[in-house]
Amino acid sequence: SSVLEIKDLHVSVETEQGQKQILRGVDLTLTQGQTHAIMGPNGSGKSTLAYAIAGHPRYEVTGGSILLDGEEVLEMGVDERAQAGLFLAMQYPVEIPGVTNANFLRTAKTAIDGEAPPIRTWMKDVKSAMQDLRMDESFASRNVNEGFSGGEKKRNEILQLELLKPKFAVLDETDSGLDVDALKIVSEGVNRAKDTTGLGVLLITHYTRILRYIKPDFVHVFVNGRVAEEGGPELANRLEEEGYDRFLVDA
Ligand code: ADP
Ligand code: MG
Ligand code: MG
Repeated sequence: SSVLEIKDLHVSVETEQGQKQILRGVDLTLTQGQTHAIMGPNGSGKSTLAYAIAGHPRYEVTGGSILLDGEEVLEMGVDERAQAGLFLAMQYPVEIPGVTNANFLRTAKTAIDGEAPPIRTWMKDVKSAMQDLRMDESFASRNVNEGFSGGEKKRNEILQLELLKPKFAVLDETDSGLDVDALKIVSEGVNRAKDTTGLGVLLITHYTRILRYIKPDFVHVFVNGRVAEEGGPELANRLEEEGYDRFLVDA
């Protein structure tokens, strides 16, 4: 199976006050089929890690590497990363005016696979994935994320995930703004992808709630741009009871 290795990753952003170091040496190895939760207080650098993996131009990697089966992801363009099997669901999904959801999905699928999906099975797959996520059919013909509520955007990201079938998915705060019913539906989608394709998941979250539905194999606690502690699922339970205060005192 495939492996995503993050090694001694350092990332900074350009701010009005100058260069600001955010990630200060992150190490993490994710094997396909595993789920790793990245938890931590606000501002600890969780989204920055997601952006760095995605190749967002604002986030400058100043050291370290990200290897996918030994290949340097940092040398890949954004499209190449998707073709290599990486999927990134951002905390704030972008709207794409003028592009329907159905066209976007088909174009993305074609770009990733290198050939267009057969039209009849594809339409069936899209419909059935939308039904599983309890998305109304009208979402296929609406522009990507335009006017979608927060929860609808999150479902739409999982729709992309289920149809594009990546090796690894980075899900940044996929639980934020979801009520319990929507959280269950979205989690079921992620679990389906885990079961059917052996998806590896980097699940970024501030809260422990989603971890009741998507079970992590490993938990990493981010504080001040570094992994301050790591462990198994029991660490999430501890955080649920104790919060992040213990780490903030040490930081
Ligand atoms: P988290 O996702 O854990 O809440 P972020 O990665 O979003 O944390 O942010 C980490 C730190 O980096 C915060 O202090 C945030 O203000 C800062 N930061 C992130 N992105 C930018 C940016 N584009 N410009 C300036 N500061 C940023
Ligand atoms: Mg935040
Ligand atoms: Mg964030």
